[in-house]
Amino acid sequence: MGGSIKINLEVRDAIIESDAGDVVKCYQCGRCMAACPWNLLDGLDYTTYRFCQRIRLGAIIDSEEKEEIAADTIDVFRCVGCDSCKVECPRGVGLSDILRAVRRILVDYDSYPGELKSVVTRVFSSGNPLGESTEKRGDWSAGLNIPQYTEDCEYLYFPCCLPAYDTRAKKVAQATARILKRANVSFGIIGKEEFCCGEAVRRVGAEKVFQAAVKQNTELFKKAKVHKVIATSPHCLVTFTKEYPEYYDGFETLHAVQVFDRLIKDKTIVPKRPFEKTVVYHDPCTLGKQMDIYDEPRAVLKSIPGLKLIEVPIFNRDFSICCGGGAMGLWRDWPQDERLADLRAEQILETGADILCVACPYCLQMFEETIKSLNASIEVMDISEILELSLE
Ligand code: SF4
Ligand code: SF4
Repeated sequence: MGGSIKINLEVRDAIIESDAGDVVKCYQCGRCMAACPWNLLDGLDYTTYRFCQRIRLGAIIDSEEKEEIAADTIDVFRCVGCDSCKVECPRGVGLSDILRAVRRILVDYDSYPGELKSVVTRVFSSGNPLGESTEKRGDWSAGLNIPQYTEDCEYLYFPCCLPAYDTRAKKVAQATARILKRANVSFGIIGKEEFCCGEAVRRVGAEKVFQAAVKQNTELFKKAKVHKVIATSPHCLVTFTKEYPEYYDGFETLHAVQVFDRLIKDKTIVPKRPFEKTVVYHDPCTLGKQMDIYDEPRAVLKSIPGLKLIEVPIFNRDFSICCGGGAMGLWRDWPQDERLADLRAEQILETGADILCVACPYCLQMFEETIKSLNASIEVMDISEILELSLE
């Protein structure tokens, strides 16, 4: 913090009122800094423990020096919302929530990274971060004979934006839908009227776009009489479960892996075909640290004959390191030596596994890109793809 930073109590009060009330709990122990994955990168000091103090003092993002404002903005938008700090904090302080409150102010003043602005604009105008046509939102299901959702269906399958549009991620939605069909799960899809769940836009501070997403989806769910949702993305899961109920609580959401686990446990599906590979499972932050879903994916993988499940030593379950894709990190262009996906991929490659198993479309995309750039040979697969191969 340079000498030219001014105290601004008005900004401080606005930040604290906007979800950052927990700043008063922080007693500056620094454990969040030790837990934050950015500090595992050589030469990078992400001094997370200072955010609460600076907000309390009204001394964040209020400098007259352009360089200081730029450096502060990078720091505020660096957080990927993994919640490793929250898991470790003795006071339960979630820095991603606190930084989200700071981001809201910056977004309101249009002072945030250009890569993020483009994504926010695309979500607002097209209902998805890729800027694809809403008309094509259900195209991933072509030829699979999946029924349109009606009130007679038990579940709505909500694939998330990446599996709806991205060529690689579509395969995850397709594998999931085929497994659900094979198990005679009563489900349907809606397609073009769906809107992005809004998780990423909220995390970067674009609150008005998040509110538009909530309005569109909740009105749709009410009209279609949706009471249960199956999500492929843990980002949708965490948002529908923890954020939407403030506006509408008429539905519950399960992640696909929870459904697979139930179907295997009650023997509705029985993995029989051997999958003779060594598989390392990467815990997505939104599924593990934020929803406490650690055992179900492991139970699904362990039920597959021939599959040898291994773990990244130490950095597994709630010590798992973020792929870097959260809070729109997927769309950031960090320098080569500031990529969390590379850091995590190196830990994973050291295990010697044949397959890196993920359960999140963001992790899938982050790791596919990073594995390619590292020229490594491990294959990245979603858990639905592995499970489907084991079903006869
Ligand atoms: S771990 Fe919690 S209490 Fe300690 S410095 Fe970080 S936010 Fe503050
Ligand atoms: S949420 Fe993750 S990236 Fe953000 S400050 Fe906490 S540990 Fe660091």
